[in-house]
Amino acid sequence: MAQQAFVTLATNDSYARGAMVLGKSLRNHKTSKKLVVLIGPHVSDQARAVLHKIFDEVRLVNVLDSGDTAHLAMMKRPDLGVTFTKLHCWTLTHYSKCVFMDADTLVVSNIDELFDREERSAAPDPGWPDCFNSGVFMFRPSNETYGKLLQYCTEHGSFDGGDQGVLNGFFSDWATADINKHLPFIYNMSSIAIYTYLPAFKQYGANAKVVHFLGQMKPWSYTYNPTQRGVRGDAQASSQPGLLLQWWALYSAEVVPMLIREYGDQPFN
Ligand code: UDP
Ligand code: MN
Repeated sequence: MAQQAFVTLATNDSYARGAMVLGKSLRNHKTSKKLVVLIGPHVSDQARAVLHKIFDEVRLVNVLDSGDTAHLAMMKRPDLGVTFTKLHCWTLTHYSKCVFMDADTLVVSNIDELFDREERSAAPDPGWPDCFNSGVFMFRPSNETYGKLLQYCTEHGSFDGGDQGVLNGFFSDWATADINKHLPFIYNMSSIAIYTYLPAFKQYGANAKVVHFLGQMKPWSYTYNPTQRGVRGDAQASSQPGLLLQWWALYSAEVVPMLIREYGDQPFN
């Protein structure tokens, strides 16, 4: 049987830091699956070296080099560049089944049971729950699906300018077709729930298996004080310190030493 993998994406060094933390969190919770990171050409050599130590496969995806269909599509919609990069995950056909996870997610418990689910299983988006959030989803790599997705993308674009719009447009019956493809929110708990439904967060937040730092402020946008074990940043930081602190604790204890080894005295921020 072909192997199964968790897949993430980083097109630059900031998201690469997120991918490193995600990869470490999957390893710490003893996943038995392969770990794959898709990277763009702008990821530095040093960051690549660290990613190689955490992931089983580091695959460079250059949208402009990825064949005629993608090339032509890109020419018409350069704004969809990052979106196209995420769709590349469908080309990982040496795996039978995969879970895609955004680089701004953190695993806080083993989630290998997700592989019992089928393609396009995903959790609802907190902003519009009839759409699935594309930060965590199951998929079956297939060049045929990849081709269809690219075609859909060129013909219809993305209603939100990103991958989530494309994927919800393409897999448009997700809300109603099959309840088995609705993942519980605890597999993609966005920190936004803290502001939108605080009592539910207090009641269920501790059950979360995957935390998603969705939105403009990413964990790496804040500054961390390792001696005080505190996160500094804007007001948001103080309302969700626990989750951010978990991310930073893992980053500073396990990722920073690897970065220092690669970068030496050069700054890596
Ligand atoms: N991404 C990336 N480079 C970018 C933007 C996004 O590699 O410049 C990847 C990364 O894996 C990220 C995912 O695309 O987690 C989706 O973007 P983001 O998480 O920023 O969107 P949000 O979850 O906040 O809607
Ligand atoms: Mn995200």
